[in-house]
Amino acid sequence: MQLNLSGYSTAMFSTWYFVEELGILFDAGDGIVSSLMQKSRKINHVFISHADRDHLTGLFQFNQLNARAGFPVLHYPKDCGSFPPLENFTKQFDAHVAGTVWKKLEDKEKIYLREDLYVQAIRNNHVAAEKGIHKSFGYKVVSVKKKLKPEYSVLSPAQIKEVIVNKGKEATLMDVETILLAYSGDTPVENFEQWNGAETLIHEATFLGGPEDANIKTHGNKHSQLNDVIKAVSQIELGKLVLGHFSSRYSHQQIDEAIKKACEEYAIKIPVYRVLPGETVKNILTTNSLNGF
Ligand SMILES: [Zn+2]
Repeated sequence: MQLNLSGYSTAMFSTWYFVEELGILFDAGDGIVSSLMQKSRKINHVFISHADRDHLTGLFQFNQLNARAGFPVLHYPKDCGSFPPLENFTKQFDAHVAGTVWKKLEDKEKIYLREDLYVQAIRNNHVAAEKGIHKSFGYKVVSVKKKLKPEYSVLSPAQIKEVIVNKGKEATLMDVETILLAYSGDTPVENFEQWNGAETLIHEATFLGGPEDANIKTHGNKHSQLNDVIKAVSQIELGKLVLGHFSSRYSHQQIDEAIKKACEEYAIKIPVYRVLPGETVKNILTTNSLNGF
């Protein structure tokens, strides 16, 4: 499924990704509404990865313009203390946003957007926290399709109908899950097997790992280096890769060259796209891939 995915993602400044046909926003940094304008009305569910300000300050205007009874639903990791004060403040400041739903999420929790589609929260270690404390998530969007169990696949359509009538759907059909889209959030490179099989993975690559990185201050929060991301990608099956959240210390040329080099080194054979610092990219998956696939 070719998703219409747009976004902006620059470390420290703002990150958001919008999936138009699913009505989903991942993260809500500054500039969502001024970039998407009327299209932001299509967003029903927002999934915030963590409470760093560059991932949430766009919520304020987005919510003000789009709040109605029961929507939008703003999902966030359950132990992020920033969201309840934000909920209280926005409801005092703009009385008409009372209908917005603020929803705490647990690790592994699934939010069904439709019967055949859910978004699952996946804890990561960007923000140090004890076991059971959830302050930072990635997410995956999973489609669930009913398929005939393999032992019945030789039957004719009429026979299949008969088997379903006699044995019931439970016994004859099975769920087949596909990860349509995975979003790493801010994270170190870890547990890549959880993204295996995703049609598209959006992963952060804050640092290029060159000499410019000598004086990096990350306030203790952990990020990814490009080469580690590409290496991990080479060890799983993916459809497409979108890289973002680059530090603005690098020029566009430095970033593109580093991506091409890493893709060659690790023999990456899937299309790799990137969201460069300072740029809003519309329909990312229709842009030219960097590595010619
Ligand atoms: Zn960030």
